[in-house]
Amino acid sequence: MSDGHGEANQQRKESVVTANVPGDSPVTDPGHVRSGNAEGAAGKFDGQRGKSGALKKSARYRSRSLSASSADSYSSTSYTGSSSDEEEGVQPHEKAIAGGQPSPPYCVRNVEQHAFGRREIEIAEQEMPGIMALRARAKEDKPLKDAKIVGCTHINAQTAVLIETLAALGATVRWAACNIYSTQNEVAAALAHAGFAVFAWRGESEEAFWWCIDQCCTPTSSWQPNMILDDGGDATHLMLKKHAAAFKQIKGIVEESVTGVHRLYQLSKAGKLCVPAMNVNDSVTKTKFDNLYSCRESIIDALKRSTDLMFGGKQSVVCGYGEVGKGCCQALKALGCVVYVTEIDPICALQAAMDGFRVVKLTEVIRQVDIVITATGNKGVVTREHMERMKNGCVVCNMGHSNTEVDVHALRTPDLLWERVRSQVDHIIWPNGKRIVLLAEGRLANLCCSSLPSFVVSVTAATQALALIELYNAPQHRYKADVYLLPKKMDEYVASLHLPTFDAHLTELTDEQAKYLGLNKVGPFKPNYYRY
Ligand code: NAD
Repeated sequence: MSDGHGEANQQRKESVVTANVPGDSPVTDPGHVRSGNAEGAAGKFDGQRGKSGALKKSARYRSRSLSASSADSYSSTSYTGSSSDEEEGVQPHEKAIAGGQPSPPYCVRNVEQHAFGRREIEIAEQEMPGIMALRARAKEDKPLKDAKIVGCTHINAQTAVLIETLAALGATVRWAACNIYSTQNEVAAALAHAGFAVFAWRGESEEAFWWCIDQCCTPTSSWQPNMILDDGGDATHLMLKKHAAAFKQIKGIVEESVTGVHRLYQLSKAGKLCVPAMNVNDSVTKTKFDNLYSCRESIIDALKRSTDLMFGGKQSVVCGYGEVGKGCCQALKALGCVVYVTEIDPICALQAAMDGFRVVKLTEVIRQVDIVITATGNKGVVTREHMERMKNGCVVCNMGHSNTEVDVHALRTPDLLWERVRSQVDHIIWPNGKRIVLLAEGRLANLCCSSLPSFVVSVTAATQALALIELYNAPQHRYKADVYLLPKKMDEYVASLHLPTFDAHLTELTDEQAKYLGLNKVGPFKPNYYRY
């Protein structure tokens, strides 16, 4: 149909999709906060922003409207959401501010979607036995009574279960997204409708991203945050830079990601961390389940949903054989892929070899592989030079934190054409017609293109909740201004909360056995250095 209406629609789609080409600077810079004064933070990425801004201007971009099949193929729990989510053009906070609400009680894409979101949350609850058990056990005690928690994590149905658990345990929360693409709009709507101060929508601009976090961090007469639950360190970073006095009132920070934990250790080393922090990323339950088991399932789901790829016989290379890389390799191998691994660490390289994978340099296999997956937590792992050599149709995706592993900036040059073929799927086309398929513009593919197994998030969420409870209730001198691991006994407790799902029956130590091993009968059962 080519009536005027259709054309107008098409134009709108074109311009919106173009507008959706992300800001090139990483979403890690609070320098753009509206009316913010986070000068210290801004400088860090200035160089990158300046350079990529120039590139962005000269990059070519061709958009297609989303195909019906691409919209249909995503389930309701998908992070990819619906096309209309991203095509509204105006950022919700602009509407709120224009409407005279500089500090709205919540800001989401469309609160009317709440019923659909509530159903998603109820579905997630069914697969999150651990966090639901914790809610049931602790709701009378209210161990988080009067806690005021700033949350900055992915916002999806599973996070909603965590948020509602924290509230049931006595906390008040204000929540923003740690990723501009991963918010499930209908879930954010359900939370807002239930009275939670949530500031997030799918497809936030970079400026909106920091505005949302700032809504949670800024102290007011009725809101003085005293705990932070962070995924990536952005809330911690913003609060430290912009609200230094309020930051000193924080009783504890719980950080979930490798990157955020790294930042915390850096702060601690520099003597700038003035509150205790819990590194839950390195809790055994978190690392094994979130990084290994979750990615083992979601890598396939993300690739399938976005590319309809058949895996049998395909050649793939996984960069990094840590927990995430191991999960990806296992899944690809199980489906008949030929899997290569790249590593910098001889121990992980040897593990990969013992598990039956060829350990190679990326340049050795780059011409022949059909799929390239990064899982290193590092930067510049896949460069323009690598992408020049890839074969036509090669799929490139990142499973590591942030968007630094694949050098996406280097693809924004005038000679390359970007074609948006689906939500989160770009074809990058060379002058000779060769194209590579880039998922989620180099951001976490599974979080942008797929759904997460709720069960795994239940493990992570229970770990986070227990870490918050521990820091919030700890006597004053138990934790200093430093970074701590969750006590082993709590890790074991998180695991035990999930065992009834499998009707798993633990063997109890006899007194004699406990004495023989030098253990307490109720744990902890392993020393801190034990590798599971
Ligand atoms: P890890 O430290 O266990 O593994 C990373 C591996 O990459 C290490 O073995 C390291 O030696 C290797 N490596 C580093 N630089 C490399 C390079 N240039 N080439 C090849 N190998 C290199 O970390 P992990 O637990 O596997 O996590 C990896 C990343 O994934 C982190 O950034 C983490 O935040 C992220 N993560 C993602 C998800 C997800 O859902 N996608 C879940 C958890 C963690």
